[in-house]
Amino acid sequence: MAGFSFLIFILGACVGSFLNVCIYRIPARESLLMPPSHCPECGSRLGILQLIPIISYFFLLGRCRSCRARISWRYPMVEGLTGLLFLLVWHVYGFSWQTAAAWIFVSVLIVVSFIDWDHYIIPDNMLLGGILAGIPFLALQSWTTLGWGLAAALGYGSIMGLIAFISKGGMGGGDVKLAAFLGFFLGPYLGGLALLLGFLMGGLIGIVLMLAGKKTGKDVIAFGPYLALGGLLALLKGFDIINWYLAFFCWKIL
Ligand SMILES: [Zn+2]
Repeated sequence: MAGFSFLIFILGACVGSFLNVCIYRIPARESLLMPPSHCPECGSRLGILQLIPIISYFFLLGRCRSCRARISWRYPMVEGLTGLLFLLVWHVYGFSWQTAAAWIFVSVLIVVSFIDWDHYIIPDNMLLGGILAGIPFLALQSWTTLGWGLAAALGYGSIMGLIAFISKGGMGGGDVKLAAFLGFFLGPYLGGLALLLGFLMGGLIGIVLMLAGKKTGKDVIAFGPYLALGGLLALLKGFDIINWYLAFFCWKIL
């Protein structure tokens, strides 16, 4: 079993390696396939030994083999994070269609979060592509799952759209689509929890940043990563969180 877990982690790390390519090339509007992976400083192509997830970075001591330019630590970090999340999904959902859908879900969230963090944009085509790729895996679980997913996407997309409209741009169009994406994969219960957690965490961090004088009320805060984090927590621990909350609440009123 430990050997199998290791394989799942490696699979995730390899997917993470491709997610790195998406994170850097989608905002630059570059092709995801051509040219092959290369050093952004000197352009030298990476050989097979430089393309091993996580390990290559440490083997190269974090520098390009040709020009010695520093390689961002984010590359191995994204690979390790993807591997870890693939493994956690596996431990929660096991051998099922849910795991396949959840792997698509976490992959898209990782790409969207890092792009939003860097550029304050959420790539629509990534969310739409994720939903299209997820449709067969939700349908394979059951038509009911797919139906609830689509309903939750529409519902939470509309609620978020209303918030965006009322707040006059405090919430971006990308966040509206991200909310629909969360609803689609998580369904009505966990999707709602994901948004709630995202609002709580994003709001708290926003207040802390303002108190620390790092941001003012007028500054842009990338909200996508907090919604994504809410989505991951709901995916992996959602029902535990709901149960804990209900137990706590009942204890209070009894
Ligand atoms: Zn180089």
